[in-house]
Amino acid sequence: MECTCGGMLTEGRSSYSMSGEYYYIVIEDIPAYKCSRCGKILFQDDVVDKIKALLKRVDRDTKEIITGTPSVHTYDY
Ligand SMILES: [Zn+2]
Repeated sequence: MECTCGGMLTEGRSSYSMSGEYYYIVIEDIPAYKCSRCGKILFQDDVVDKIKALLKRVDRDTKEIITGTPSVHTYDY
């Protein structure tokens, strides 16, 4: 695995933070790679997929909490 800048990646851990319309989420201690040249943090594809699925759920459920109206549940993942 290599960074887009061509730098070497070192294995480590990092946190992922993300803000949505009604929330701010930080997931800590995720296995990640850090580029030794540009300092960019990269996550493995399967980890990114899991985070995306989680965020989709949080996005929907927080909207339900805030608005008080249940959204249509589409279990498409
Ligand atoms: Zn890099």
